[in-house]
Amino acid sequence: MMADIPPLLSVENLHTRFDTMDGVVTAVDGIDFEVYAGETLGLVGESGCGKSVTALSILRLLRCPPAAIEGRVLFEGRDLLQMDSDAIRAVRGSEISMIFQEPMTSLNPVLRIGEQIAEGIRVHQRRTRPESWRRAVEMLRKVQIPSPDSRAAQYPHKFSGGMRQRSMIAIALCCGPKLILADEPTTALDVTIQAQIMNLMMRLKEELQTAIVLITHDLGVIAETASRVIVMYAGKIVEEAPVRELFKDPRHPYTQGLLGSVPVIGRRQRSGRRLQEIPGMVPNPLQVPPGCRFNPRCPKAMPVCCSKPPPMIRLAEHRRVSCWLEAEGAKRESSGR
Ligand code: SF4
Repeated sequence: MMADIPPLLSVENLHTRFDTMDGVVTAVDGIDFEVYAGETLGLVGESGCGKSVTALSILRLLRCPPAAIEGRVLFEGRDLLQMDSDAIRAVRGSEISMIFQEPMTSLNPVLRIGEQIAEGIRVHQRRTRPESWRRAVEMLRKVQIPSPDSRAAQYPHKFSGGMRQRSMIAIALCCGPKLILADEPTTALDVTIQAQIMNLMMRLKEELQTAIVLITHDLGVIAETASRVIVMYAGKIVEEAPVRELFKDPRHPYTQGLLGSVPVIGRRQRSGRRLQEIPGMVPNPLQVPPGCRFNPRCPKAMPVCCSKPPPMIRLAEHRRVSCWLEAEGAKRESSGR
């Protein structure tokens, strides 16, 4: 699919650990993935599976030190984890932007919206104040804020939730980044506004040819926007697939559980079949079960699942599953049985 094109972002063996009063928590445990220019990659899983920590680790934005981040995060060949603080600051906002779930915590309440957009333009593109302001107003128009000239001069508290998230999108896109990390960008909004914001993001993404890593627990959003999906569970990647294949033929029991627990437009439920919840809870990161981390909740668990972590089985390019069932299947296939 994308074999000959070098990835824009390559995450290699990423580990993120936090020291807590009760011990060391490994929130992200040795994950690898790539993002290609212009694509939308979905990163899905329940709360606490390590999706947001992954995005914050990529941009080194974790706020609760001491956190140890190990591995490599190559952006166009440069390792973001090895950059000095000036260099990583230059990458943030100009080449990679992040959109957070709750815009009110990311917007500065005492700065006018226009100034918050213009600041990035001034710093990263070295424009004059009047030029940056004009560009900020243009960005507000692009994200469909009505009366952008007067709105640019207002403070965030005058904006509705949807308008604040549109402003965050304007801030994220104002310098034309090559990659956006969008962490549950619509979760805090009501359903109609969610759809409008997602449509807007996808339209602008196409127009500006930006790649997006879309972090969400909402498989409906993934079905409509992503081309490829990575499923995470308890800090690890358990499955990767092109979006259609994931919905048509989910291989990991956790993915199967996720798909069985949500109604997805376009996917027909078998008649009389009710949506199922995955029993149990995501494990406490201080007490991760041995073997496969999903084993206490897995309806297909076997004895080996409780003692040995499953290997990652590669089925095709961008198609991999970490499950003993696949490993057993691969073994049978290679022995010709
Ligand atoms: Fe279930 Fe075992 Fe596969 Fe884990 S490795 S998902 S417990 S079958």
